[in-house]
This record gives sequence, structure tokens and C-alpha cells, in this order.
Amino acid sequence: MRGLIIGRYQPFHKGHLEVVKCVLKEVDDLIIGIGSAQISHTLENPFTAGERITMISEALKEEGLKCHYIIPIPDIWNNSLWVKHVIALTPSFNVVYTGNPLARRLFMEEGVEVREVPMFDRRKYSGTEIRRRMIMGEDWESLVPPAVARVIKQIKGVERLRDITRSDELTHLRRGDISP
Ligand code: NAP
Repeated sequence: MRGLIIGRYQPFHKGHLEVVKCVLKEVDDLIIGIGSAQISHTLENPFTAGERITMISEALKEEGLKCHYIIPIPDIWNNSLWVKHVIALTPSFNVVYTGNPLARRLFMEEGVEVREVPMFDRRKYSGTEIRRRMIMGEDWESLVPPAVARVIKQIKGVERLRDITRSDELTHLRRGDISP
């Protein structure tokens, strides 16, 4: 049986890794789909699809885990066609794992079996919390696999996120949304 797990992985953290380990106990073959693959260099999605693929493949290699496919999946402007778009980009699969309620509904409406992703210590292992810690200069490394921390340092990911934060603040200041 082949499973598909979809997430944005901004960045891939220890919670995601635990999910992958759990899913690998249920399926023989796993596809990891990288959602919103076309988006990068934003506060919510700082890393490119290529960088996310590197993070995931290095982390899995470090753990001795086997994932057969890591596939970037760009968003499309039509939710009713999204599942067909995912199917067109991936090898065939029998079951989908997703934490996103919309993705869950869209797959169910197309008759695809959807399973809940187990969540691990969500307060700590959360992409939002990790990006916040990077911006604030707090410890983020302990929340990601060592291989992911290495990739983020190599690409100067923290510096990128801080620059994006500064440009975002400037945009709001110019628009008058926030006071200096
Ligand atoms: P999301 O809305 O970013 O994630 C939902 C929640 O689930 C987040 O809190 C996320 O945590 C968590 N999560 C996701 N994967 C996880 C995992 N493997 N283990 C633990 N927690 C996990 O959406 P998503 O599930 O990451 O990704 C769904 C993708 O489908 C998105 O890229 C979305 O744009 C795409 N999509 C596109 C269309 C379209 O193009 N029309 C339609 C539906 C969905 P973290 O923040 O910690 O990762």
C-alpha cells in the first residue's frame, strides 16, 4: 500500500519526522508532497520547494528512513480541481494523510481514503513557533532534526527570515497599517 502525506514543511521539524515514522508503519511506500511549492521568501513560507526537499531527504537519510518520492505540489486557483492536480503530479496512492481540513475535505469528496495525522507536542513542534523563534533569536535548532538545522544554516535561512520580517514591517509602515 502506498500513502501520500502532504504538508508545507516550513521548515520540516521533529513533529513531522515523528509523523513520517508513524505513517511508515502503516504503508509500504510513502510519497511526501510539498504543498504550496511555488511560494518562498514570505513569513509563512520562507523556504523554496528545493530547499524543503533537501531538508526532508537529509533528515530521513540521517534517521535511516526510506521515502520513495518527495514531490513538489504548487497550489492552483481552483479547489475543486486540486485533487486531480495532485494525482497528476504523483505516483498512484491508496491513502492520504493531511493535517489541513480543506485538503481533507477535497480528498474525501473525490472518494480518496483520508487518515488523520497524529500530532506530537504541537505547542513546541510547530512551523509557526519555529519561525517565530528564528526571528526572535531564540532556540529553534532543538525543534528540528540536526540535518535540517545544517541545511537552514547553509542557506542562511534565519537571516533570510529576518530580512523578510523587516521588508514586511516596512510595507506596513508605508501603508500606514502600523505606527513606527
Ligand atoms: P497547513 O494548513 O499549513 O497545515 C495545517 C496544520 O497541520 C499546521 O498546523 C501544520 O503544522 C500541521 N501539519 C501539517 N503537516 C503535518 C505533519 N506532517 N505533522 C504534523 N503536523 C502537520 O497545511 P498543510 O497540511 O501543511 O499543507 C496542505 C497543503 O495543501 C498546503 O500547501 C495548501 O496550500 C495545499 N492545498 C492547496 C489547495 C489548492 O491549491 N487549491 C487546496 C487545498 C490544499 P506545521 O505548521 O507545524 O507544519
